[in-house]
Amino acid sequence: MYVQRKTINANVSITGIGLHSGIYTKVELHPAPAGSGLTFVRADLHGLRIPALQASTTALDYATTVGKDDVSVGTVEHLLSAIMACGVTDLDIHIDGPEVPIVDGSALPFMHLIDAAGVRELGAEVPVLRIKEPIEVVDGEKSIRITPANRLVLKYKIDFDHPVIGKEAMHFDFEHDNFLRKIAPARTLGFLRDVEKLRAAGLARGGSVENCVVLDDKGIVNGPLRLKDEFVRHKILDLLGDLALIGRPIVGEITAHRAGHSLHSRFVGEILRAVDRQSGDNVGPALQPAWAD
Ligand SMILES: [Zn+2]
Repeated sequence: MYVQRKTINANVSITGIGLHSGIYTKVELHPAPAGSGLTFVRADLHGLRIPALQASTTALDYATTVGKDDVSVGTVEHLLSAIMACGVTDLDIHIDGPEVPIVDGSALPFMHLIDAAGVRELGAEVPVLRIKEPIEVVDGEKSIRITPANRLVLKYKIDFDHPVIGKEAMHFDFEHDNFLRKIAPARTLGFLRDVEKLRAAGLARGGSVENCVVLDDKGIVNGPLRLKDEFVRHKILDLLGDLALIGRPIVGEITAHRAGHSLHSRFVGEILRAVDRQSGDNVGPALQPAWAD
């Protein structure tokens, strides 16, 4: 099973504050040649290139960070989620600082950005990753598993001890328009009670009521919600962004329960190890399509 490789038609850019660093950056998306993959390019550091791959992940607390040596790009998941939803496989993501802008906390601004650039096929194909056996990672009450299927389906359940969240569950069939309507608008969640602790740890410095659904102990500080069950929808958004780090499209039925970035990342690691076993050697999946069909 193969799909067309795709890039964008023209350079497009967006600027904004980073959720954790509080630093303003400009992200400029550039078309890239077939086979180059998704790459962050630190425009402020002589164009240092950081592949958007699992092997590049350096931090997974509250957001996903990719890096090389001591240089990194943080909070990549919402942008990568939009890129994946648009089927873009090859793209240079120029950024002049350490963190992707949070914008409104959702993937919608990035969907509009890619839409403004336009997407085109590159005349080359990429093999779709189809796993042969179920893969699962479990951490106490948290779990995530994939079983073989011909399309990508995500089932996510969360259970927060909070009066406006509680239990939420969603079944999402991965498809561009479905993503645009049901998942992309779902915003990041922030608990007021965590703000001091996060800021002391150098996180959430750019967080505000403009870019998060902020919750206190009783309810939503900056309501109303955009969508019913917005929180579980955002978890699906995050998971798709973390799956983009596989480096190619994937199909399967994924069931996640109370997971987060660090479990998503362990899960992606397990998938890539399974790919290596299927291909019968240790060559990275990007160079070894033998497992695909
Ligand atoms: Zn998120």
